Amino acid sequence: MHILPASDVTKFPGFPRPEIVQPRRETRRAPPVAEADVPEDLLSVPGSPRDRAQEVFFARHYREPNFKTGKLNLTYHKVVEAKPGYVNETYRTLVEKYGDLIPRVNAAAFSYHEREAAPERDQAADLGAEIRAKAAELGVDLVGFTRFDRTYVTRETKDAALFKNAIVLCRAFDWDTTHRAPSVEWDVHSYDTSLALALGALHLADFIRSKGYRVQFIAGTGLPGEKMIAPILPYAVAAGLGQIGANGTMLTAEFGSRLRVMGLSTDAPFVHGKPRDFGVNVLCEKCQVCVNRCPGRALSRIKVQWHGVTKYKIVADRCLPVLRFAECNICTKVCPVQHFGLKPVLEHYAATGEVLGKGTAALETYSLFDKGEFGPGELPRLARDEGGQGLMRMAEDLGVA
Ligand code: SF4
Ligand code: SF4
Repeated sequence: MHILPASDVTKFPGFPRPEIVQPRRETRRAPPVAEADVPEDLLSVPGSPRDRAQEVFFARHYREPNFKTGKLNLTYHKVVEAKPGYVNETYRTLVEKYGDLIPRVNAAAFSYHEREAAPERDQAADLGAEIRAKAAELGVDLVGFTRFDRTYVTRETKDAALFKNAIVLCRAFDWDTTHRAPSVEWDVHSYDTSLALALGALHLADFIRSKGYRVQFIAGTGLPGEKMIAPILPYAVAAGLGQIGANGTMLTAEFGSRLRVMGLSTDAPFVHGKPRDFGVNVLCEKCQVCVNRCPGRALSRIKVQWHGVTKYKIVADRCLPVLRFAECNICTKVCPVQHFGLKPVLEHYAATGEVLGKGTAALETYSLFDKGEFGPGELPRLARDEGGQGLMRMAEDLGVA
């Protein structure tokens, strides 16, 4: 397979170009945070607490599999393929809206896995500033640079990782649409954001190749049917963009976790960022709003050491069915760092010792499809046939289990 340039992916009749992917409304970027802004009792370590020797041991002997190939995820896709629209209106809407653009974007991203001959280029160059400027032009909100650490490459793709550097790209969701989750509107917007970011990443990859360097997609496109070679968040944290919250995803000062994150690896040269301490490791211990509000009971109050990293670990089998069938995202919506921005949360904590908005109906209330509205302290009850077991039962009914 040859590499498919981004211009080829979008150059066919009747399909959107990047500029006509649904335009964003208000993203409400909060101001960045310096370490000096973090109250002393919230400081811990830059990035995530990690034990490098253990990370290497697990990578060598018990490397993580690709979570996209987990049993529930595969079953979900089989159910959708067997009966499109049966379980999730989002898929039907996406197919109507984008036709086969999504598979074409996935194919183009994966075509970058091909090994190209090393081109001529200037080894002394630093492409960082040019990449940042180009990414901003392409609608990317945050850019990070780091080493492409092979520790995190999945078991299935460990021989496919080619290059030494990683670029992390983030695009924010609308603030107001995020606050309308769970809903089909929110879910479609999340895929619109993935598509816009994936198209931006394809154009950025073409730009880097035009400078004589090689590129590979690390983390797929975030779209149905994507392929990845490593999860992107460890690289995002290493690049200093944020820290992992109790909701299992990266909290940034500017957008909380109201972001889609994607990544490229490359042999292009640039200066690497460093992990930073925004106070998130300790703040989440005090906050726990997402843990309290998760309808799937998928978030844990305790941190575990997982493959050498100390972190909150999502129970994916509890989250996935709620996330997929109820267009969830409640753990992002109710996060004070997402809702207010990290700076106001830190300032409020410094002044009062309290977490801004915690326990208030304005922050914590949500509606879950036909189950009604749930305020602070209230959670929906999911019957046996609605959670992960409900998914397996659907698969059995359709003969795809
Ligand atoms: S997406 Fe929903 S079910 Fe999954 S962890 Fe977040 S709040 Fe819980
Ligand atoms: S809701 Fe609170 S505990 Fe959860 S990720 Fe946000 S800050 Fe951390």
